[in-house]
Amino acid sequence: MLSELYGQQGISLMGVSKAVLGEPLIAEAMIRGGVKFIADSRLENIQRMRNARISAQFVLLRTAPSQAESIIENVDISLNTELDTLEKLNYYAAGQNKIHQIILMVEMGDLREGIMPDDIFLFIKKVLDLPQLKIIGLGCNLACYGGIKPDEQKMRQLSALSDAVEKKFPIHLSLISGGNSANYEWYQSTKNVGRINNLRLGESILLGCETVQGRTIPKLHTNAFKLIAEVIESKVKPCLPFGKIGRDAFGNIPVLRSTYPKSNGNRHRRAIVALGKQDTLVSGLSPNQDLEILGASSDHLLLDCKNSYLKVGAGVNFNLNYGSLLTAMTSPLIKKQFIQ
Ligand SMILES: *Cc1c(COP(=O)(O)O)cnc(C)c1O
Repeated sequence: MLSELYGQQGISLMGVSKAVLGEPLIAEAMIRGGVKFIADSRLENIQRMRNARISAQFVLLRTAPSQAESIIENVDISLNTELDTLEKLNYYAAGQNKIHQIILMVEMGDLREGIMPDDIFLFIKKVLDLPQLKIIGLGCNLACYGGIKPDEQKMRQLSALSDAVEKKFPIHLSLISGGNSANYEWYQSTKNVGRINNLRLGESILLGCETVQGRTIPKLHTNAFKLIAEVIESKVKPCLPFGKIGRDAFGNIPVLRSTYPKSNGNRHRRAIVALGKQDTLVSGLSPNQDLEILGASSDHLLLDCKNSYLKVGAGVNFNLNYGSLLTAMTSPLIKKQFIQ
């Protein structure tokens, strides 16, 4: 759906696989869905997919100089902002007799990665002295650290910068990568995408939403992932801890309130499921039934059962947001099962 939607205005997609730790089956599904590239921030994830014989153009979103040699071996295109790193890439590319393709990231205000726009001309001039590197495009990343929206103004600025670079240097920028899952609103509202012809999408593909408002993209599923945890205790207990308050397992002093009226004796049915902060970002979980997450320690998640009775041994289903998905997929202790 996303390939078709963005394809209508000539925008190709990079399927971003970092939230699923480069899981090869998911990368394959993205490729079947029409993404042109598979992008990941971790070289290790790209190696995992290559070892699983995924055939795609691999893009590295985060480039570290210490990995330069392996990047040249395993990656087709890398995103870059530092000359020292590019010199290393150039060195190893020469050794391996390769031309390595790069996209230069431009700082557009979010203050994560990027070369300041004023510096880009001098930067490119220096990159052109590195014969094993080929600049194939510019990119920017917004709505990640600073929460800055990718809007019409930012996208026009990136387009204009691309034109200016091509005017000044004898290079063609074939890939102008305007952003990530936060670019949906801009895309829906713009009359002219300008030079933007690529987006790098993780969350939209995996969880079906855009990320500025957190809204579902029409016709996409938001529950492709489900985390199931086993009930290990189910009892009627007081709504509030009793005894003298000290600190919890993470060193905080708990402030707990009960939403129950005194009339039910301040007791309720609560359950523990075998899941905790070591497994996933608990704040990003939402139970699929009418239960309330009361809190969690490293290995125990506490639920207010409300009107349900949870039997010991039963499974409780949770939906996951991006942070929960990312952490759960990264945990070796969570079993991954693929349906279809
Ligand atoms: C993670 C990442 C993306 C994907 O972001 P989503 O919000 O999941 O679409 C895109 N670009 C870069 C540079 C990233 O690090």
